Amino acid sequence: MVIKAWYEALVHVFYPSLCYGCNNELIQGDQYICLQCQTEMGRTYFESIRDNPVEKLFWGRADIQCAASTFYYIDKTPLQQIVHHIKYRQEKELGIHMGEIMGIHGTEFFTECKTDLCIPMPLHPKKEYKRGYNQASLLCEGIFKQTGIPYNEKALVRNENTRTQTKKSRIERWKNVASVFDVIEPSIINDKHVVVVDDVITTGASTEACVNMLLQHGAKTVGIYSLAFTL
Ligand SMILES: [Zn+2]
Repeated sequence: MVIKAWYEALVHVFYPSLCYGCNNELIQGDQYICLQCQTEMGRTYFESIRDNPVEKLFWGRADIQCAASTFYYIDKTPLQQIVHHIKYRQEKELGIHMGEIMGIHGTEFFTECKTDLCIPMPLHPKKEYKRGYNQASLLCEGIFKQTGIPYNEKALVRNENTRTQTKKSRIERWKNVASVFDVIEPSIINDKHVVVVDDVITTGASTEACVNMLLQHGAKTVGIYSLAFTL
């Protein structure tokens, strides 16, 4: 044990782990994010608040069971850096870690939604091929590790040919967004309480289309849970 601790200390001197939020050296014991950044990441506490701003965003647009985000998404904050690392820097372990944090804070939320299954927001297939993974699936994996709630990446897919949105009327644009997604295995979601998991919710247009598609194909109820919410 002494040798192991000594070895770890030595590795830390030569290869210090850096915080994904601020790039400063992590002290031993901290994982991925330093204490300072952890305190600067704006918690919403929406998981235990009904009629919260995320739910209000979908009022009149999608018949959701409940919705929440763990953090606020604000420019130039540690969380923005963290999301960047997950999406563009191949930091998959960090994605799973953030999913675990969502799982810890989401216990009450998942119970309220009676959650049977999480569905990661599908990426455009070309984007997923290029990136090699879907960041929302990483979040689902973390949630599963923490809560035991399973997830499925196969039931809902994003269609390949999404036509350009400009020069279309509002109705045409809405139809276009609605046809972006497809449920290819309805039996997976049939009669289930489903929660759509995403990284950042901004306008909620794609999420709305996802929810409606899942409801049309037999999901009993649909909720939404994201890592962050844009103010
Ligand atoms: Zn930091």
